[in-house]
Amino acid sequence: AVSTGSLPGWGLVDELVHVVHDRYRSHDEGVVATYIPVLADADPGAFGVCVAETSGGIHEAGDTGVDFSVQSISKAFVYALVCEALGHEAVRERVGVNNTGLGFSSVMALELNEGHPMNPMVNAGALATTAMMPGSSFAEQWENVRTGLSRFAGRQLALDGEVYRSESATNMRNKAIARLLQSYGRIDLDPLGVVDVYTRQCSLLVTARDLAVMGATLADGGVNPLTGDRVVSGQVCRDTLAVLASTGMYERSGEWLFEIGLPAKSGVSGGIVAVAPGKGAIGTFSPRLDPAGNSVRGQRATGYLSRALGLNVFASA
Ligand code: GLN
Repeated sequence: AVSTGSLPGWGLVDELVHVVHDRYRSHDEGVVATYIPVLADADPGAFGVCVAETSGGIHEAGDTGVDFSVQSISKAFVYALVCEALGHEAVRERVGVNNTGLGFSSVMALELNEGHPMNPMVNAGALATTAMMPGSSFAEQWENVRTGLSRFAGRQLALDGEVYRSESATNMRNKAIARLLQSYGRIDLDPLGVVDVYTRQCSLLVTARDLAVMGATLADGGVNPLTGDRVVSGQVCRDTLAVLASTGMYERSGEWLFEIGLPAKSGVSGGIVAVAPGKGAIGTFSPRLDPAGNSVRGQRATGYLSRALGLNVFASA
């Protein structure tokens, strides 16, 4: 039996990470994202699994050191930084915490809700959140995003210029969403400037290992377990994880919570981070996606580890 307060012993976690990698490495369901042209070049066979413990232990198998753009996973950590700066109420009022039930770039969701973005994990809410980042210029906001996400990861994260340029040239939909938000008074800044900061934040390079450490920081009440740096408060971690539980896997968040029972966030380049409060986090990378934009192997691997390690937050027996 697995104890409830922490992860099982070092050897077992290490073994399970390798077992899960072996078990799913040959699965080839799903398709690599192509709506951001450069993402089509991703290696569909890449697959990495990493568990980071709140005690600082790291367990990894496969391609855990391969760089990929963080994409929507950045939304979770920018949200935490904005909650830290502005507080629970301001963010709830402006961005919301309810699932839209629609895809992450839905314009319909925004229109149906009279311009309210509903939650920070869809593009509309993420743009509204990025617009709230501290900083007196877009350059300063971007620097604060990069520094903040780097503190979550415990190392300096770099921007992938190619991904940034590829998305910047093709993100008409995000620009349209930002204009709509402006028309509804949901963002006060120049909408195209906000989209630019958001596109940069999505282009930051991370590894599956970084995702696990970033998630473990949220699992550890806001303290990075590798560097000891307090990035955000415990209250902010609670708020962020609650939002991830209801919205982190887009319109599939309910199914995900039902099957796997962990707050999590995915991105279209194939990353997923899942957080076990108090215990640690799982970071996975595999570029083949399901129709909602969630990595197929990442979901399988995380589900297996959640069960085998007894991580489901709803389990009492
Ligand atoms: N940068 C991407 C976009 O805005 C992020 C989407 C995602 O990862 N789901 O479309």
